[in-house]
Amino acid sequence: MSVVDRFIKYTKINTTTIPKAGVLPSNKSEFELANLIAQELKDIGLVDVKIADNCILTATLLSNTDISVPRLMFSAHLDTSSEQKGDTHAQIHKNYDGGDIVLNASKNIMMQVSKFPELKNYIGEDIITTDGTSLLGADDKAGLAAIVSGLKYLVDNPHIKHGEIKVAFLPDEEQGLLGAKAFAEENFADLGFMLDGGSRGEYSTENWNADDAEIVFHGVSVHPMSAKGKMINSLLIAHEFISRFPEQERPELTEGTEGYFWIKNLQGNTGKTILNIDIRDFGVETRIKRLNFIQNLVAEFNKTYGENTVEANINSRYSNVANHLEKFTWVEELILESMNNLDIKPKKLIMRGGYDGAVISQKGIPCPNIFTGAYNFHSIYEFLPVKSLILATSMVVELASNLIKYSEQNKIK
Ligand SMILES: [Zn+2]
Repeated sequence: MSVVDRFIKYTKINTTTIPKAGVLPSNKSEFELANLIAQELKDIGLVDVKIADNCILTATLLSNTDISVPRLMFSAHLDTSSEQKGDTHAQIHKNYDGGDIVLNASKNIMMQVSKFPELKNYIGEDIITTDGTSLLGADDKAGLAAIVSGLKYLVDNPHIKHGEIKVAFLPDEEQGLLGAKAFAEENFADLGFMLDGGSRGEYSTENWNADDAEIVFHGVSVHPMSAKGKMINSLLIAHEFISRFPEQERPELTEGTEGYFWIKNLQGNTGKTILNIDIRDFGVETRIKRLNFIQNLVAEFNKTYGENTVEANINSRYSNVANHLEKFTWVEELILESMNNLDIKPKKLIMRGGYDGAVISQKGIPCPNIFTGAYNFHSIYEFLPVKSLILATSMVVELASNLIKYSEQNKIK
């Protein structure tokens, strides 16, 4: 089966994540897809193929070399975004001519080059789109298909040497990275790659360190008739607190590797006010500096307004993959060499966001992100050039086989 056929087969199972379902997986059909893939992996020859109660699918392809190589994991997610619901009807446009693409003639749905100029990069190629009534689900079924087909290729070509390869396919990435958060096998692999990126050549070895702060301001509510000297208005303390944040370090004023504080939500009354802040930064030290800034501010306000007037609860959500690559400082070289071998032009993306790999990195398996080839995620205009999907598959093969060289050179394990 070609990777394209495999991908289209996966898109036929509707695995739309169901927001706030309160269970994992949120959509039972994620099990249907996991079961289908598990059977494929068994047929290919992987061992320890397991689907957990929470629908996390894991499997192992045994090493075919005596050389000691880090255990490599490939990961992708089973669900699709709830922003566009409905069954997916994928269609292939052969030999794209550079013009507007008719997604659905009867409903008059077009994909116009003027709106999606990146289409021009794929003239002469075959492009997979939807029929304009749903998303395509290349996010992340292209990742799943590329991994499964890449592993099949390795098994069919035993002269290509590789170490032990692990697979972890996760449910419900599209609602708060729930599947990755539930992933509990910290010692499952040494190094991972998530196939959940965008266009051909895109890769990411850096993303946010993400922390969330909930700041609670306690006031004293008294009837205004007799409030003088007694009332303490928590809303006004919160207002003063917010005014102390650096004005230039906001999401709307930052880009690239600049971090920020996002004053995200404020709710309260005289007696009690709750403020939510998202704290984002790429550096280890600068992240700590931001957290200290908040803690110091809290201490200062408690000094001014009285002990326990302000409380801060800070939670780490995910961290920068780069922080976890000490043992694999060469991982970017490995990615670049693999792309070079396939004649792919690399596009480094510094992710001002998080993804499953960032959560898994924090659990001890550093997990950079690699392209699937797709565009316009979560939209009816999602499209996937066939050649990009094939190259994503080849990347699985290249990364696995080139890893031997890097681990030998660097005497890992
Ligand atoms: Zn995704």
